[in-house]
Amino acid sequence: LLTYNSTYRNEATDSIVPEKDRIRVVVRVRPLNDRELENPKDPQTVLRCEGENSIIAEGGQHNRRFTFDSVFDEASTQEEVFQYSGIKRLVDLAIEGYVATCFAYGQTGSGKTHTMVGPGGAAIFRMDTNYRTNNFGIAPRAISYLFDCLREKTQRTNSPYYIRVAYCEIYNEQIRDLIRPENPDPLQVRGSIEDGFFVENLYQTYIETIDELLTILEEGELNRAMASHQLNDMSSRSHAMLSIQIEQDLQGYDDPQEQMTRQGKLTFVDLAGSEKVKASHSKGKQLVETNNINKSLLTLGTCISALSDPRMRNGHVPYRESKLTRLLADSLGGHGITLMLACVSPSILCENESLSTLRYANRAKNIENAPLIKTDSKENVINRLKLEVRKLKDENLEL
Ligand code: ADP
Ligand code: MG
Repeated sequence: LLTYNSTYRNEATDSIVPEKDRIRVVVRVRPLNDRELENPKDPQTVLRCEGENSIIAEGGQHNRRFTFDSVFDEASTQEEVFQYSGIKRLVDLAIEGYVATCFAYGQTGSGKTHTMVGPGGAAIFRMDTNYRTNNFGIAPRAISYLFDCLREKTQRTNSPYYIRVAYCEIYNEQIRDLIRPENPDPLQVRGSIEDGFFVENLYQTYIETIDELLTILEEGELNRAMASHQLNDMSSRSHAMLSIQIEQDLQGYDDPQEQMTRQGKLTFVDLAGSEKVKASHSKGKQLVETNNINKSLLTLGTCISALSDPRMRNGHVPYRESKLTRLLADSLGGHGITLMLACVSPSILCENESLSTLRYANRAKNIENAPLIKTDSKENVINRLKLEVRKLKDENLEL
């Protein structure tokens, strides 16, 4: 159990990440599903991809063209999204010590989990190996790539690395640990804009192989699913966050004798469905849930609007108003780098939601990040690990 986060930034390292890598916004259109194909209005699509960057929303009297860093059409494969979305660059930068975040946005059923994890979420991992590796989403592919890069780097430099994983969800403005669901609820967000926010007491586990990650994803999904029997449709209304902390030992910048630890972070966020929940379906307890989820998603929208409006530069960004935006503060106009995956259905049945997703993504393009590397002296890291060991001992004594 870790109760801290790295708080030191080496201000000597100015941001050297090229502008095009600071924030990338890509769109993926999923194929029509059976219901949409059987639509009596005929299986009309209202979105058309053109080239590698454009998507045209056709309908009504006006066609509207949007351009993004990449656009993936109905026929795109998981491997293509991995190769061309910019996720590999995000991994490269996380290894260099940046805070990198990839988040999936879109209405329920638009393909967020499919793109992030794989078809059917982690259930896929029980299926046969060949099928599963071909259909992995961006997160398992990225982490596999991360392991490859680190192994290669270690061979060259001889400096060890450590990878820790945490997995949680934000539901109803409460954070649940998906690795250790018995972890005391509710977990709190601590930290500050300057030093970054983190979830206090969130369980983190070291992993050494991709199979260990897959087990975490699978168990996390089960923990999510178990709760959703009690709470209606939880997975579409909660935000799932998978964080990978990458630590490497290196020499100090000023004093080569000083041992530093470089700490990069790679986070995948599968956001709650962006659709508006109909008021008539929201009664009593459920209404509260809806409000809260809207609170996180609404605040995310407000932050993106504030950050993307040039008139608002240096203006107030309400990060503090929701758990989600606090945890994403670094990735939104902060010191991190960001990849936003907007997922849409091309069906005429989803026209309004798809348009709203495209507009949202279009605004996100204008966010300006100023990436900085996080490092910490090895001494600090060791002290914090000692603290952790002591805490774990105390817990065992209590048992
Ligand atoms: P979300 O997480 O946004 O609610 P899902 O990822 O669960 O949506 O997708 C809904 C359904 O559509 C799933 O059965 C999923 O496997 C399928 N699907 C989504 N995107 C694609 C795609 N690009 N190709 C094939 N099937 C897809
Ligand atoms: Mg999903």
